[in-house]
Amino acid sequence: MHIAGFNPNSFVDYPDNIAAVVFISGCNLDCWYCHNKWILKSKDNYSEEAVFERIRKNKDFLDAVVISGGEPTLANTDELIAFIKKIKELGLKVKLDTNGTNYEVLLKLLPLLDYVAMDIKAPLDKYGEISPINPIQINNIQQSIGLLINNIECEFRTTFVSTLSIEDIFCIAETIKGCKNYYIQQYVPIEEYKEIKAHPPEYLRNVCKALNEKGYPCELRGI
Ligand code: SF4
Repeated sequence: MHIAGFNPNSFVDYPDNIAAVVFISGCNLDCWYCHNKWILKSKDNYSEEAVFERIRKNKDFLDAVVISGGEPTLANTDELIAFIKKIKELGLKVKLDTNGTNYEVLLKLLPLLDYVAMDIKAPLDKYGEISPINPIQINNIQQSIGLLINNIECEFRTTFVSTLSIEDIFCIAETIKGCKNYYIQQYVPIEEYKEIKAHPPEYLRNVCKALNEKGYPCELRGI
């Protein structure tokens, strides 16, 4: 398992919990606005034992561990399961951050997880506008949405890039209908695409309000 980064304590990565965050290398989407590209291509490889030892020593000050990335489900599944089991044995909760493309692995991990945050990049027929990967396993993403809504405490989140419209956000909200937690996150331009400006915060507030008025859950993050 390639660990690209480690944050010993975070107050923002697991709602209402203090968590250590483990960043697993690699991703299968390569979204154009990704702020974690260093993780996608990272050659860093933190020792898994050293990371676990830090978590173990710190466990009295933690509620949970977040397994993030990149896309953590691309890690060796047996190693990932063994790592999560060790964390659970410490009495800590485990949250997974995922893009939902790896349904089969998500299914295997689910009994070990306490919370899952899944990105929804765009309406399902518009993923190609966000990621150059072709083909993207849209069926897997659809299956992952259903799996999470019906089986575990979870949230969905969309980075509201300015190439997405209010209609796109409504389409996403309909795709994840039945979920309790949906977050719209502000897009922050990366250097490579700094000419693509973010939507004004007021616009995001109005979109979120419009969703709420139609009965869809929605909260804002990052503004
Ligand atoms: S899924 Fe997440 S980590 Fe992967 S490329 Fe997209 S934004 Fe980056």
